[in-house]
Amino acid sequence: MITTVRSAVDLSAAAARGAAELEGATAEQILTWAVEEFGDGLAVTASMQDTVLAHLAARVKPGIEVLFLETGYHFVETIGTADAVEAVYDVKLRRLLPLQTVAEQDAQYGPELFSRNPDLCCALRKVAPLNAAMDQYDAWATGLRRAESASRANTPVVSFDERRGRVKIAPLATWSDEDVDRYVLEYHVLVNPLLSAEYPSIGCEPCTRRVAPGEDARAGRWAGLSKTECGLHT
Ligand code: SF4
Repeated sequence: MITTVRSAVDLSAAAARGAAELEGATAEQILTWAVEEFGDGLAVTASMQDTVLAHLAARVKPGIEVLFLETGYHFVETIGTADAVEAVYDVKLRRLLPLQTVAEQDAQYGPELFSRNPDLCCALRKVAPLNAAMDQYDAWATGLRRAESASRANTPVVSFDERRGRVKIAPLATWSDEDVDRYVLEYHVLVNPLLSAEYPSIGCEPCTRRVAPGEDARAGRWAGLSKTECGLHT
């Protein structure tokens, strides 16, 4: 973790260079560029659905910092996957906590805010903790893939994250579902057990349901609501 960051102008220029150079690069090449460019100023985020990005990052930079948003609403399987990553991978796992516990949030906003105002709940429990953590980094890598959904179809490999003033890197942007499966099998990567229990996309427990055969993979996220993203990437 670093405590000072490069200027927005400098980071924006680095993002432009990366975007121009890396569109056809492999995930390893993209991460290698990011490590050389940002060093300890690079963090990797992990949702603990699969742990491909954390595994790849540990191969490229052993000891790299991996950020996990501890919302207080995760499935036990997700917490177990995070614990396993911390125990097995050569990474430093940082668990990012919201300002309030679930009980404190319930006391201020009423119980089950996720059912009444999920945008606010995500803002408090996901977006704000990540934004606060990013004060300490120049760049972050995310596991976003274009194949995941229509809203992610144009995910750039490298971009300037205007909202946070940081460089955002998506090393797996061009990976298909089959690419992920191949990597998982080849390297025996830890995956969330819910993936094999009809949860192809895993978020917080109250906002994630099983998906029926033929349904969109993300159909179980905030089902019945117009919400499709938590706000980290929008
Ligand atoms: Fe809250 Fe649901 Fe967002 Fe998790 S996914 S932070 S429970 S609204």
